[in-house]
Amino acid sequence: MTLVELLPSVGACAEPPLEKHLWPAGTKLLPQGDLEIGGVPLTRLAARFGTPFQLLDETEVRARARAFRHALPEAEVVFAGKSLPCGSVFRWLAEEGLSLDVCSAGELAAARKAGFPADRIVLHGNVKTAEDIKAALSYGVGRIVLDSFDEIAQLVPGQRVLIRVTPGVDAHTHPAITTGVEGQKFGFSLDAVPEAVRRVEEAGLRLAGLHCHLGSQITCVSVYEEAVRRVIGLGLPIEQLDLGGGFAAPYVPGEQPFDLTGFANRVHAALGYECEHNRIPVPRLMIEPGRALVANAGVTVYRVAAVKPGFIAVDGGMSDNPRPALYGARYTARLVGRHSRAPRHTVTVVGRHCEAGDVLARDVQLPDDVRAGDLLAVPVTGAYHYALASNYNLVGRPPLVGVCDGIVRELVRRETEEDLLRRDLMPA
Ligand SMILES: *Cc1c(COP(=O)(O)O)cnc(C)c1O
Repeated sequence: MTLVELLPSVGACAEPPLEKHLWPAGTKLLPQGDLEIGGVPLTRLAARFGTPFQLLDETEVRARARAFRHALPEAEVVFAGKSLPCGSVFRWLAEEGLSLDVCSAGELAAARKAGFPADRIVLHGNVKTAEDIKAALSYGVGRIVLDSFDEIAQLVPGQRVLIRVTPGVDAHTHPAITTGVEGQKFGFSLDAVPEAVRRVEEAGLRLAGLHCHLGSQITCVSVYEEAVRRVIGLGLPIEQLDLGGGFAAPYVPGEQPFDLTGFANRVHAALGYECEHNRIPVPRLMIEPGRALVANAGVTVYRVAAVKPGFIAVDGGMSDNPRPALYGARYTARLVGRHSRAPRHTVTVVGRHCEAGDVLARDVQLPDDVRAGDLLAVPVTGAYHYALASNYNLVGRPPLVGVCDGIVRELVRRETEEDLLRRDLMPA
């Protein structure tokens, strides 16, 4: 007989505290073990929308947009639309005075539908198809970021462009999301920049500036300072310097939010110093946060379908979150909707799909008595979830539900079987 069997209270655990910086500000633990976000209890949303569903806290997205603008008042803050290409989100951020990065005709269509001002849209992409460029020119997007010599010929004279530079700075993140080093597919090497500038001028395009993007989930400010040093070190007088995105978001307990104030101070100092040293005017800074604006504003709620030794299987999976399979991304999970004082154990939350890699949250602490029918909430699902979702196993993608001060607005509805079969042209 174990001590816990003799004295059950020894094994009983209090509810774990909320890891505040992972969840939207104002997330509250309610008395019945429910969680309230944006003034709305999650159990109520589960009853209304079914599971899985993805929640997005509008207040949190707007607050983060304001925090970026406040930290960098003279910079242009450009939302990396690929992280959450949703018309309503584009509209909120347009209202907050941000600009928008798109990297396909599809993302541009969403921006257009949201009425995003064309002069604040930047077209990106290491491959821009003829359709992408045509869509950008017809909407009149303000700036296009050149990634190769081949793109130059496709643009019309007068178009404002930035040249994407690979500054050779290693941001020390996952290889799949490291984009600033040589020997990968993005942009022009530092040596090739003078030739790119020459060809831009020859084609009658207007050089708006230089761009670089170092990778994703960057926690270390010094890599941005190093990028400033190298790009400004080219000695080219430019209107704008775009340092890209990649500002880290915390996903699991113990990870810290990105030091935005430190970034602002140090990058400004580096920019001032390097420009003086190279005798060029200080360009206007642009940054392109995606994840840091939206990741922590999102939460996905699943229902437990089955419990097996060491595993808890839920009704979603890699179709709504492929990031663990793609990048080994880590998540945490929390029981929602009832209290449990059962001892907590390490388990892995897995999905419903027919793949061994269909994992949602590896090695998380959950109570022993979690059972089929319980709700689990996974925080930090606002970035690259909706964007990367698929129909694997012909599972419809979950809805995206906006909450704001107690008001619920469905931003994207759940995908139905009819949606899924619409493109299948089998004759009846
Ligand atoms: C993906 C991307 C971003 C945004 O990256 P986050 O990690 O979401 O901040 C910004 N700029 C470019 C060019 C990108 O490709």
